[in-house]
Amino acid sequence: MTTATDKNQQLFERALKVIPGGVNSPVRAFKAVGGTPRFVQRAQGAYFWDANGQRYTDYIGSWGPMILGHGHPAVVDAVQKALLEGFSFGAPTEREVELAEEILSLVPSMEMLRLVSSGTEAAMSTIRLARGATGRNKIIKFEGCYHGHADALLVKAGSGLATFGSATSAGVPPEVVQHTLVLEYNHIAQLEEAFALHGKDIACLMIEPIAGNMNFVRASVPFMQRCRELCTQYGALLVLDEVMTGFRVALGSAQSVYAKAIPGFAPDMTVLGKVIGGGMPLAAFGGSRAVMEHLAPMGAVYQAGTLSGNPVATACGLATLREIRKPGFYEALAQSTQSLVSGLQAAADAEGVAFCSDSEGGMFGFFLLDQLPQNYPQVMKTSSPRFNQLFHGLLDRGVYIAPALYEAGFVSSAHTAEDIAATIEAARAVFKELSKA
Ligand SMILES: *Cc1c(COP(=O)(O)O)cnc(C)c1O
Repeated sequence: MTTATDKNQQLFERALKVIPGGVNSPVRAFKAVGGTPRFVQRAQGAYFWDANGQRYTDYIGSWGPMILGHGHPAVVDAVQKALLEGFSFGAPTEREVELAEEILSLVPSMEMLRLVSSGTEAAMSTIRLARGATGRNKIIKFEGCYHGHADALLVKAGSGLATFGSATSAGVPPEVVQHTLVLEYNHIAQLEEAFALHGKDIACLMIEPIAGNMNFVRASVPFMQRCRELCTQYGALLVLDEVMTGFRVALGSAQSVYAKAIPGFAPDMTVLGKVIGGGMPLAAFGGSRAVMEHLAPMGAVYQAGTLSGNPVATACGLATLREIRKPGFYEALAQSTQSLVSGLQAAADAEGVAFCSDSEGGMFGFFLLDQLPQNYPQVMKTSSPRFNQLFHGLLDRGVYIAPALYEAGFVSSAHTAEDIAATIEAARAVFKELSKA
């Protein structure tokens, strides 16, 4: 509702004067769905309140980190204690060693890791390390996967099969992306062709194992297995970008889900972020000791950060990990998430609205399509006007999902069965409207 007394609108107008687009990260601007972004005043548990004091059930959770919901008492307590001991030292602390040990114990494919402050930084540093460790320049990524906004990763597919891509952002020189090969997700034949042509020059293949930046698309098991085999065969590093899926889909992250289907499966490197910071700026990248020892100060690959391993962020991350590793945590989270998507599915089916959905752990996706998409072009077949109608219908009823159809959704442990039932009822009302449209 945009009225003269709408505080969201007033704040947005103020913001537009001082911040490009009024936001500090583009998707927050509601450009895809239209309308006024909600300015968050505070959040607790599964809810946040906007500038008008309106409450929303939050299915974004800061785009993934808030797996415990907002303001979990154990996390708040740990952060408050840490704050009193100091904000930042620029010198090592015990807590960052503890956090590294904790993460490594849960994700055994990594023997060492380095802490940084954002997923972008972690993915960018991983690419540099992969290139430094292999002495090769080329990298493979997949259309629809997002790995942060480092220059070499802002690339879309070229015109032909297995051609090098072009930048998706102004300000990225063609020379910077000339080594980035962009392939179609879940396309085994194209992957094989790319390795046959360029395999000896490929430093790494980077992939979101469950792509959460084109809504929710799983890498098929045969595709993931082929990625692993080809990387091994050609001496390229397999990098799983688990910034979103890490500790979100399972305690062992998405790699543990694939290891159940592919015996012995493990990536060479893993990129983490979001959940490991519990809502504070914290991310990490890691892998085998042999690869990680190429990093400065041990090796020749430079990487550094003033706020890396920040003592408040690490306290927040550690407290979060200690909660999520408690027995039964993921079983309960997955069950809530499944009850949400199956309830949405049933409501859409009852109203005759084309709908399909998927989830893993506390991450879900749904599409206004008859069939789950396997790649980016299929995701983009969703009708934007219909999605936007669904988005605003839910928003008007106090349910906040991602303001764009190519984003995943997140359930936290703070979402109760009642919250989920209320969301399904809200969706049922919107589906009714959609079925008439
Ligand atoms: C969010 C995300 C990033 C970027 O992380 P930032 O902390 O936003 O820089 C990278 N990769 C994936 C898969 C992500 O979901």
